[in-house]
Amino acid sequence: THTVSDTARRHVPADLPTRIQHYIGGQFVDSVDGDTFDVLDPVSNEVYLQASAGKKADIDRAVAAARRAFTDGPWPTMLPRERSRILHRIADIVESRDARLAELESFDSGLPITQALGQARRAAENFRFFADLIVAQADDTYKVPGRQINYVNRTPIGVAGLITPWNTPFMLESWKLGPALATGNTVVLKPAEFTPLSASLWAGIFEEAGLPDGVFNLVNGLGEDAGDALVKHPDVPLISFTGESSTGQLIFGNAAPFLKGLSMELGGKSPAIVFADADLEAAIDATIFGVFSLNGERCTAGSRILVERSVYDDFVERYAAQAKRVKVGYPHDPATEVGALVHPEHYDKVMSYIEIGKSEARLVAGGGRADGFEQGNFVSPTVFADVAPDARIFQEEIFGPVVAITPFDTEDEALALANGVKYGLAAYVWTNDLKRSHNFAQAIDAGMVWLNSNNVRDLRTPFGGVKASGLGHEGGYRSIDFYTQQQAVHITL
Ligand code: NAD
Repeated sequence: THTVSDTARRHVPADLPTRIQHYIGGQFVDSVDGDTFDVLDPVSNEVYLQASAGKKADIDRAVAAARRAFTDGPWPTMLPRERSRILHRIADIVESRDARLAELESFDSGLPITQALGQARRAAENFRFFADLIVAQADDTYKVPGRQINYVNRTPIGVAGLITPWNTPFMLESWKLGPALATGNTVVLKPAEFTPLSASLWAGIFEEAGLPDGVFNLVNGLGEDAGDALVKHPDVPLISFTGESSTGQLIFGNAAPFLKGLSMELGGKSPAIVFADADLEAAIDATIFGVFSLNGERCTAGSRILVERSVYDDFVERYAAQAKRVKVGYPHDPATEVGALVHPEHYDKVMSYIEIGKSEARLVAGGGRADGFEQGNFVSPTVFADVAPDARIFQEEIFGPVVAITPFDTEDEALALANGVKYGLAAYVWTNDLKRSHNFAQAIDAGMVWLNSNNVRDLRTPFGGVKASGLGHEGGYRSIDFYTQQQAVHITL
């Protein structure tokens, strides 16, 4: 059981706002109908602020402002170097405020403070990365000797609609804002309704960095109201969405009549496959981190671990022991490894899966509310062993600190288990057999594979999933491609 001193209990950041408005055309504004929604902090589940609840009328205003900023300029026609300077300034400001950003993000989302700090730095890095990439951008040019010259005109598309989830919200917003702005588009961001706090800081950061009014617009609100209106707005030619697969399907349908450009980063149920010849200690450390970091609220979480039979019992025993040592704590405490889940609705969902798991498999660690926390969304790191491939906890995304371990006998069986779900986002392979690792990686249905590695990415690589995990890729030049039009010009010599 945990003993928690009074000073380590709920931490409320100084100077918290009591309400959050939209930001449209360089102004903070309320909803046209004045409506608001409640925002809770996940440690007390008390309402700590009201956010403006955007509807179609607010989206209309935001899109009009973004449209004006696009057609009147100067943003879309500025030299890449000029836009890049502003993006670097944004990165500098984010970096200089990383501690405050982390404090607010941790308070609003329940993420452990040390991990929220890492995400704030990563948000700065996303801006810096696309600021650099856009000035290095080169486009295709081909010469057919004596016949033809061909070159490409690359231009921004217009108003980009950005819809983001509540897990690592500030960082995931930056992953879309960076390339959308670097390429000269103007944007309307609809952040997740559970976590609007950090998103409300973008307006001040962008103003300070010198981003022209109307280039960035923010509308808060529920997905079915504000998000839906953004998806269905005829003047928004592209939507970049990150969220659940079922929401992605709905958006796909809603965008179809407009033939919009879509980038979809969706759910996952990613496997970690551990072969008997692997460095077990490294595999255990990485697979613990892979599912329990970021509270397990991570799209690429390795939430299924497949272990070769000959080391299975040993692995399960050591893994369960290590899971029991993962420190659940208050989000602002630097010693905390798992904080509070984002919202009581999500807590209930995760808890219901834990109950389902108890009827489907063998519980070897955790299994409920974390000891010592009577209120708030604290879940004990939970490990199920002997999970059958048709179990719901094997098939469905839980998005919390819950992992399913399953044994396998052969490489073919491991592959069938790995691929036997509707998702295909990430996969992690642990083996010291060089040939097997590469061949196995190639056979897995996953957009991203890590071999004997923690989940660390190079921002130049493609990010995206297959099957129900997404459509299209972001990352490096793929993001530039998504947010730009490429016109081929042919000249006969
Ligand atoms: P969600 O789908 O419920 O919501 C995501 C966003 O979509 C929110 O801003 C929400 O308001 C909005 N939305 C909801 N309904 C909408 C509608 N009808 N039209 C337009 N917008 C709508 O997802 P969530 O619960 O916030 O996030 C968790 C999910 O996101 C998990 O499934 C996770 O795996 C996934 N995710 C994927 C990635 C990735 O890169 N693949 C990254 C992070 C999270």
